[in-house]
Amino acid sequence: MNIFWKNIIGHERNIDRLKLLCSEDRVPHSMLFCGIQGIGKRLVAESMAAAILCHNPIAGTACGECPSCKALMADIHPDFFQVQPEVKKGSELIKIEAIREMQEKISRMPVVSKQRVVIIDDAQTMNDAAANCLLKTIEEPGGQIYFILITNSVMAMLTTIISRCMREDFGGLESQDVVKVLVQKGIDDKQASYLAGFADGSVGQGLLLNDEEGSSLHNSAMKFFTACAQSVVDMELAWMLGRELGEKDKGQLQQWFGFFIMLLRDQLVLYSGSDIILYNQMDMGRLGNLAGGLSQRKLLAILKLAREYQGRLRYSVNNRLLAESFIVRVKDIVED
Ligand SMILES: [Zn+2]
Repeated sequence: MNIFWKNIIGHERNIDRLKLLCSEDRVPHSMLFCGIQGIGKRLVAESMAAAILCHNPIAGTACGECPSCKALMADIHPDFFQVQPEVKKGSELIKIEAIREMQEKISRMPVVSKQRVVIIDDAQTMNDAAANCLLKTIEEPGGQIYFILITNSVMAMLTTIISRCMREDFGGLESQDVVKVLVQKGIDDKQASYLAGFADGSVGQGLLLNDEEGSSLHNSAMKFFTACAQSVVDMELAWMLGRELGEKDKGQLQQWFGFFIMLLRDQLVLYSGSDIILYNQMDMGRLGNLAGGLSQRKLLAILKLAREYQGRLRYSVNNRLLAESFIVRVKDIVED
C-alpha cells in the first residue's frame, strides 16, 4: 500500500493538518474521514496510518525504511488492520462479526510497532449492531490504538459514533487533479479529460464511464433523455426501459440516475447561456439539437423527481417497480 503523503494528488490542506497532528504527537484515537466517493480518502488514511506506525517518522511522515514501513509496503504489517464491507446482492454491509474479529485481533500485543491502527472503510455500511459493538472499543481504546473511519455518507452513521471521532472533511478534487490521477491509472490524456468532465471532483465517478457497463448506462440515460426531449415517451418505452433497468443492481441504477441527472443539469446550463462547463462536453452538439424540447419548468420538475428516486433507491426492494414508477411519472411531466 501507499505510505507517503507525497504520492497523493490534491487535498493539500487536509494533509498539512493531519501531518501536523502526527508530528506533534496529537493524533486523536478516533478519526472520521468524510467526503464523496472516489477522491482518495483511503490513500490519505493509509499515509496517516504509516506515519503513526513508523519507528522514525520525519515531520509527521513515514520514513519508508524502518521495519514498520517495510511491512506496510509489503501489506504484511501485523499491527495494521482493515475492516471492509461484505458485498452481497449489490449491497454492502459491515456485520458485527467483522467488528468482533477486529476487536479480537487488536486485543493482542502489538508486534512490529508500539501502536496499532484500524481503518474502517465505508463505515456507513455498519449495521446498528456492528456500530454499537465498535462504539465500546472507541470509547475505551485501551493502549495505543488508533481508528480511522472513512465514509461517503455521514448522514447514514450513528451520531454516537460521529460524536466520538475527530472529523476531517475532504472536498472534491480539482478537474486537473482528476485528469492527473486518471492518467496515472494508465488512461490516455484525451480519454482522461473526457472522463474528468463527468467526474464532479471524484476519480471514482470519472472511472465509472470508462468501462463498457458505464458507457452502456450512459447511453441508456441519453436515450431516455432524448425520448423526453422529443416527447415520445410512451407506454412501450416505459415498459422496455423499466425491464432493462429492473435487471440492474442498485449501484448500476444509482449510476444511471447520476448520468440522467447530469444530462438534465447540462440542458439547464445550455438554456441559461452561462459558461459553466458541461458534464457531457462531448455531446454538446446533440444536447444543443434537443434544446427547446423540454421547457425549463419541465426540466426542473424531472430533475427534482430524478433526485427523489435516486434517494429512494437505497430503500428499494423492487428496482423494476421503482424504475417503472419513475418513468411513468416522467411521462406525465413530459405530456403535461
Ligand atoms: Zn518508518
